[in-house]
Amino acid sequence: MRGSFRLITVFGIDIEIHVTFFLLLMLFFLLLGPRGLMLIVGVFFFVTIHELCHSFAALHFGIKVKTITLLPIGGVASMSEIPSKPYQELVIALAGPFSNILVLIIFYLPLQLMLGHEKLMYPLMAMIGRAGSAGQFSIIAYIYWLNLVLAGFNLLPAFPMDGGRVLRAILSYCMSYKKATDIAVRMGHVFALFFAYLGIVHGQIFLLVIAIFIYMSASSEGLQVNVRETIKNYTVKNILAGDFVHISPDAPLSKILELAFRTRQEDYPVIEDGYLRGFVTRKELLQGIHAKGKEARVSEVMRTDIPAVTVTTGLHEVQKLLQKYDTSAMPVKRAGSIVGVVTIDDINRVYLMISEK
Ligand SMILES: [Zn+2]
Repeated sequence: MRGSFRLITVFGIDIEIHVTFFLLLMLFFLLLGPRGLMLIVGVFFFVTIHELCHSFAALHFGIKVKTITLLPIGGVASMSEIPSKPYQELVIALAGPFSNILVLIIFYLPLQLMLGHEKLMYPLMAMIGRAGSAGQFSIIAYIYWLNLVLAGFNLLPAFPMDGGRVLRAILSYCMSYKKATDIAVRMGHVFALFFAYLGIVHGQIFLLVIAIFIYMSASSEGLQVNVRETIKNYTVKNILAGDFVHISPDAPLSKILELAFRTRQEDYPVIEDGYLRGFVTRKELLQGIHAKGKEARVSEVMRTDIPAVTVTTGLHEVQKLLQKYDTSAMPVKRAGSIVGVVTIDDINRVYLMISEK
């Protein structure tokens, strides 16, 4: 995600932290001092555990997770594809909140012994307005009970929370995937409005921010599924442009620039002796020129891991592959030879044209 940088890598998953997170650290430091910092670090430790559990469940079904991004409002695990079976989505969605519930169970007795009953229960009593003396404050107890908040909040049956995914998975057993998604999205909007209302009534700006985030994320979940369902009936053949240009691995990058100016093509299959050797998108071209100069060879910057799709590949499948390989375009082949390029812009254009009807 833009504006975030890698903290550590766990089991091949990059854990990134977004710059805005530091604003939150500063805010809590100003409000609560060192204890505020501890609280936020504690929250993010358990958010990371939560996201890792989603990721492990996804890995179990063969879905790769590239990064986990920690934002001020929680974590986001970006998966190589959306789980297609309701059962998989259900398990992956429940794995996160389950980890928080597990933490609550495992640490209950040890903390009871360490802090004593009253100190451990103090945050919970404060939450429901039944706190006794103010002398019972323990930051560890707060961090412990935050797991209850994380589990509870994430189990709300609305997008983009985990509970929204659970709801969609259950609903899609008895209705279409699209309809189930629409309901979970609408629930997201309802909760967003509810949080916005609470934020305004209680003068809590943070709640308003959460409300806006929930509203927008719910909408974008809905849009994603809409695109998927709309393009389901189309294949690469339907959108493939008639002509395309390819490039040889020995050509300098300046050659691609020249071609990109003349044609409107931005992504180039690298072909040698009739075989596909690699692929260069606008991203590799620009990064390559920046790092190695215009005279560097195409073979130095091309990607060799992007597979070719065929003309009969469905656009929905192409979209998944583009996401999986983190690229904006892919080469297309017919009967063994490369016949063109398909890009994310092509797919979006199809979606816009169909949905405007
Ligand atoms: Zn979650």
